[in-house]
Amino acid sequence: MTATFLGMPAFPANAARAVHDAQLRANLRKATRTIRDRRAAAVAELPGWERLRAAGRQIKDHTLRNLDRYLLRMEEAVVRAGGHVHWAADAAEANRIVAGLVEATGENSAVKVKSMATQEIGLNEALAARGITVHETDLAELIVQLGGDLPSHILVPAIHRNRSEIREIFRTRMGARGRPAPEGLTDEPAALAEAARLHLRERFLAAKVAISGANFMIAETGTLVVLESEGNGRMCLTLPRTLISVVGIEKLLPTWRDLAVFLQLLPRSSTGERMNPYTSTWTGAAEGQEFHLVLLDNGRTAVLADEVGRQALRCIRCSACLNVCPVYERAGGHAYGSVYPGPIGAILTPQLHGMASELEASLPYASTLCGACFDVCPVAIDIPEVLVHLRGMAPHPRAERLAMRAAGWVLDRPERLGRAERLGLRLRRFVPRRLPGPLSAWTDTRDLPELPAESFRDWWERTGGGSGRPPERARRVGRRLPVRRSRAHAGDRERQERGERGGGGR
Ligand code: SF4
Repeated sequence: MTATFLGMPAFPANAARAVHDAQLRANLRKATRTIRDRRAAAVAELPGWERLRAAGRQIKDHTLRNLDRYLLRMEEAVVRAGGHVHWAADAAEANRIVAGLVEATGENSAVKVKSMATQEIGLNEALAARGITVHETDLAELIVQLGGDLPSHILVPAIHRNRSEIREIFRTRMGARGRPAPEGLTDEPAALAEAARLHLRERFLAAKVAISGANFMIAETGTLVVLESEGNGRMCLTLPRTLISVVGIEKLLPTWRDLAVFLQLLPRSSTGERMNPYTSTWTGAAEGQEFHLVLLDNGRTAVLADEVGRQALRCIRCSACLNVCPVYERAGGHAYGSVYPGPIGAILTPQLHGMASELEASLPYASTLCGACFDVCPVAIDIPEVLVHLRGMAPHPRAERLAMRAAGWVLDRPERLGRAERLGLRLRRFVPRRLPGPLSAWTDTRDLPELPAESFRDWWERTGGGSGRPPERARRVGRRLPVRRSRAHAGDRERQERGERGGGGR
């Protein structure tokens, strides 16, 4: 049976299960720390990294602003080079197009290059329903497919598995899908890689149809670009007679010159390498080959319409944000219930799917807002900003909405806040140590801060901010914040000019 993310519960339920799995946490800790240390070293040795990052952001923003123009240019160039272009508004349409193209070849199987877009639309499952078998050829995707599992990382989909688990999967499942694992297979990385190589080689040589995604599309020449580390992609792209590429419309770059920026940003951010091992490019159909490009929207134009959220479309799927995220490291990728896990998943999935379901509405909260994801993102996506933006759009219970409205009313005016503080202080002995009902979830794991006997405002009025000023002046100052600032600063400056020290206090 094929595993699916469909119908998974909300993030808190998934994460609560995952954090109790000690093996999963150990696997994730080891893998994410290794990759993130390599990335940090690769980035540190490049002096112009921040400039490169700014250039990546600028190119992506410019392309997204002019996407309609560049998409048409891409289509023209692909057709000129002998390829066919298909436009898919959503997952169902893309799956229908690909299934029709495979059926037209008379084949009932295809090999596939690792691709997030095809996972997003559930292509393997849709083709299986039409009697077409898809064979994953990326090593990690092969492990996931053989294990009847779900991917949990963008770059390393089987990151949740360790070597002995992989050996067991190869030993027990490989034979059902082709050449079995060699006798006496050990869990040495070289032995596991060799078993996969032998198994896949038969697939490559027999394949008549290949399916891929692309990391980038270059509008000026209609070229597609795939970056990978194993060489499996190149086998898929060159050997079969029919090549079908499903690519999200946001993967466009205007020119080859722009690609040069991303060929530096992506390998260093994803695998911590200076240069990518296998970079394949192709334009239209090669001799004796048929090429189809399926341009996928599937919610992207709606994301583009959101001024804050649209920055998520800059993503180049490097997975650096996953590897530094403290939440991802503990909860793992399956907790996000989507093919896009981690911080980027928390902002992309709710935007692509909407926030009607409990799962999608929970994702913007799957973060501590620590900002580590923003710091490492090679295209400077401000993920915390988008998370907060989406939290504002997520459905909230009525009681929470009323409470927030009341808090907004109080915080809107300093006098109201002052009165509320005094009322709170009068009632402080009635404040419970533990909140009742569903609110107890908060106090079960946290101590409510104790209310002090005197508010900061009252202390300020009484002591003049510890400066020894008369209370009346301090009161005036407290009421007029902007005036207070400029006057206080002016006073400080005057004192400094006179060579005096300012008043003590806290
Ligand atoms: S959001 Fe940034 S860091 Fe995360 S996968 Fe996308 S490009 Fe990489």
